[in-house]
Amino acid sequence: MREKIVAGNWKMNLTFEEGQKLTSEIVQMFRDENPAGVKLVLNPPFPHLYPVKKLIGDTANVFLGAQNCYDKASGAYTGEVPAAMLRSFGASFVILGHSERRAYFGEDSAFLLAKTKQALAAGLRPIFCCGEPLEIREADTHVAFVVKQLEETVFQLSAEEFAQVVIAYEPIWAIGTGKTASAEQAQEMHAALRAEIAKAQGQAAADACPILYGGSCNAENASSIFAKADVDGGLIGGASLKSRDFIAIAK
Ligand code: PGA
Repeated sequence: MREKIVAGNWKMNLTFEEGQKLTSEIVQMFRDENPAGVKLVLNPPFPHLYPVKKLIGDTANVFLGAQNCYDKASGAYTGEVPAAMLRSFGASFVILGHSERRAYFGEDSAFLLAKTKQALAAGLRPIFCCGEPLEIREADTHVAFVVKQLEETVFQLSAEEFAQVVIAYEPIWAIGTGKTASAEQAQEMHAALRAEIAKAQGQAAADACPILYGGSCNAENASSIFAKADVDGGLIGGASLKSRDFIAIAK
């Protein structure tokens, strides 16, 4: 049985009060409704991390994650946040390789691999994002494109390191657009990625690796996408900002 994970990516949203309210509601609903066997990960912006962790407390199966970390361990890097610091504030996961970071901040594979190694060395589990833009999907070269993103990054890790990795497939044309991939499109990619993981890291690693879907996932479409054999949960943006929707997705 693979882990089932639903991770919320708050992106650059919510004041302190809004973040506290959302977290309190999510933690309460998760305790009450207890979606069987699902791990929840809340990934707020940096200033929210510690107060959100306080509200999560020791709630079983609810974890804290960050949205980014730097590729250096510490030192004179004004404005950056290293993985070990995130770990010391209670984070267990970190999102890396998100298409918004790749597009707006020029993060390339070499940088993402260095960040991934820092995260792993600090004891954080990377939620490593991959996904193709619309023109690649339309040219029907999406599988090769996404496989290359993984070959240049997480497939370079040792077996021990890779065992900690969660992959999130997020087609760029589906992020924040309200246009989700169909369950069949998600399954096609997830199965292809799992086959590539088997080649790169071995069959046991492929069988164990959680592959999440992300991109306009919501309370209505989650169940059909998550029902697919190789979809192990979701990375949720917009719908993670509403407690009822986020918990409905987890259920
Ligand atoms: P979305 O974002 O759910 O708002 O499409 C997903 C993501 O970017 O992780």
